[in-house]
Amino acid sequence: MARSYVADVTVFDGTRVRAHRGVLLEDDRISWTGAHARAPREARIASEVEGAGRTLTPGLIDCHVHLNFDGMADFAAEAAEITPELGALKGGVNARRHLAAGVTTVRDLGGVGTVALARAIARGLLPGPRVVPAGRALTITGGHGHNIGIAREVDGPDEVRRAVREEIRAGAQAIKVIATGGILTPGIGATFPAFTADELAAAIDPAHARGVGVAAHAIGSEGILHAVRAGVDTVEHCVQVTPQIAREMAERGTFRGATIVALLGIANNPKGVPGDAVAKATALIEDAKVGHARAIRAGVRHICSTDAGTPFNPHGNAPNEVIAMVEWGMRPLDAMIAATANGADALRLPDVGRIEAGMKADLVIWDANPIEDPTALRGARVVWKDGARVPRALR
Ligand SMILES: [Zn+2]
Repeated sequence: MARSYVADVTVFDGTRVRAHRGVLLEDDRISWTGAHARAPREARIASEVEGAGRTLTPGLIDCHVHLNFDGMADFAAEAAEITPELGALKGGVNARRHLAAGVTTVRDLGGVGTVALARAIARGLLPGPRVVPAGRALTITGGHGHNIGIAREVDGPDEVRRAVREEIRAGAQAIKVIATGGILTPGIGATFPAFTADELAAAIDPAHARGVGVAAHAIGSEGILHAVRAGVDTVEHCVQVTPQIAREMAERGTFRGATIVALLGIANNPKGVPGDAVAKATALIEDAKVGHARAIRAGVRHICSTDAGTPFNPHGNAPNEVIAMVEWGMRPLDAMIAATANGADALRLPDVGRIEAGMKADLVIWDANPIEDPTALRGARVVWKDGARVPRALR
């Protein structure tokens, strides 16, 4: 049995912070955690990792990435060459960038070859975070993403239902519905409602019946409201949050993924990104700030969603999303809860996102406490996934 003991460390366990703790790893799990002074006998015969002055947290969870894409300026050009084979290979390279940054779980919300990639990583064939793949995203005919291979066009409740079942048959562990227009699709608006309320509702039951969560891409308020009322698990982007939307999301427990770094990656790089995408992103910044603050005030549960792979939004960007959520008004503690325990809950992964006995040993040591200074997240000192220490060479 492989045992490691992290000694006398400050622990953020997914919920709260406590000093002078010890955490014992046995094989792929956390077997004990408590006051360092009361460490069990097994801790003394384990290989010891010095934690004094540092902070141990669960591995970060990024609930929205696109492993097929490298984060190049011209998303459309990159999309044009994507095949399942190339998508899986690029995903293998991008996956390790998450791991290097301390991100041990990602949900891929639209891609090809991602089911195979997720399985290859799970089998230990290549290094990477655990991947929850959505397969291809569902969009209306002519809707956001219709022009790229990572989405499929479906119309009417019957087609939506069938597409959900087909993606699950193909190995999807999440479903993505595109409920409004979007920024990166040329020639369409970003905020208009896309799927009808009936079509969105038709996506939910066949997914939830199989234990599969549903994520909605939704920017404008009408589409957000349709998605929330249909019963989606997470709303991605979720820009135009009215007081009513904030209230209903808080009541239902719908998670919000703000994807601030995606919006800024486009809006702040007018030289590299096509002009219509820059214009759409720039026009939404103020709404995004207002929506973020409003959702926080209403008590909406947040997750960390980067949309990594979109322009100037590289893989391993979750630390910067946590920092951005704080800069836009979230308490650092809540931003860390979003990136750990809430992410696990939203992704229906009961054994990651928290430091407790019995949980998977997905852990990161940081030199400073990210709850006191979120910029500490820019340098992961030690990363474990499934109890295995990520080699320096990968980082
Ligand atoms: Zn996305």
